[in-house]
Amino acid sequence: MIKFESVVKKYPDGTVAVNGLDLVAPSGKITVFVGPSGCGKTTSLRMINRMIEPTSGTIWLDDQDTGKVSESTLRRGIGYVIQHAGLFPHRTIVDNIATVPLLLGWDKKKARARSLELMERVGLDPNFARRYPAQLSGGQQQRVGVARALAADPPVMLMDEPFSAVDPVVRGELQDEFLRLQSELGKTIIFVTHDIDEAVKLGDQVAVLKVGGTLAQLASPAELLTD
Ligand code: ADP
Ligand code: ADP
Repeated sequence: MIKFESVVKKYPDGTVAVNGLDLVAPSGKITVFVGPSGCGKTTSLRMINRMIEPTSGTIWLDDQDTGKVSESTLRRGIGYVIQHAGLFPHRTIVDNIATVPLLLGWDKKKARARSLELMERVGLDPNFARRYPAQLSGGQQQRVGVARALAADPPVMLMDEPFSAVDPVVRGELQDEFLRLQSELGKTIIFVTHDIDEAVKLGDQVAVLKVGGTLAQLASPAELLTD
């Protein structure tokens, strides 16, 4: 479970990006943060793994106050996927996916075996293992990004518009495969998007944010559709 308790983020220039957010993202479920540009989605997401520190309020990860855990301990349990996969250009696909396991000190053989297993899970041709990111399409790179975030099997995944930069057909495929994967893995996921259709398709629960950084609505996809 991830719980936001009266969370506020005011940037040094005075911008209030998040203004008193209270919500619970249940374990094993996909919670989508949706809303227009500037409503505080990315800020909220990045406060969970402390890439951004809240100005006030508390974010709980199960019974842990994230503000009281070291960043490295916290991030070990949190996979992170961004819009342009952010792959290391000079590392092969298999080594990109193994990034976090290698940081955690796994031996190379075990880390590579894990990478290959994940390539299969996210639907990547194993022949891509020795390629470099630039040799893959945008959609394939996003699959690598997802595989990399999953590599150390974190219980929590933070996903910031992971499928927004690819064309609509590929986006649909990535969404379908993501749902299939999640049905097997049951991660606790926060998924950020500005696309209400994507929110309704992927979310077990949808948090609608509005500019100014407040929660307009917390609803199931079915409830959103009837509004
Ligand atoms: P979203 O992800 O919904 O587009 P963001 O969380 O990126 O929203 O931004 C929320 C608000 O905070 C916006 O007004 C944005 O301009 C502002 N903001 C984001 N990052 C910073 C920053 N580093 N300094 C000042 N303002 C920022
Ligand atoms: P940068 O600060 O340039 O983004 P990092 O080394 O922090 O470089 O991370 C590079 C990429 O590795 C990130 O974009 C992120 O997708 C991924 N990454 C970093 N830490 C983790 C983690 N704990 N779990 C999964 N992926 C991670």
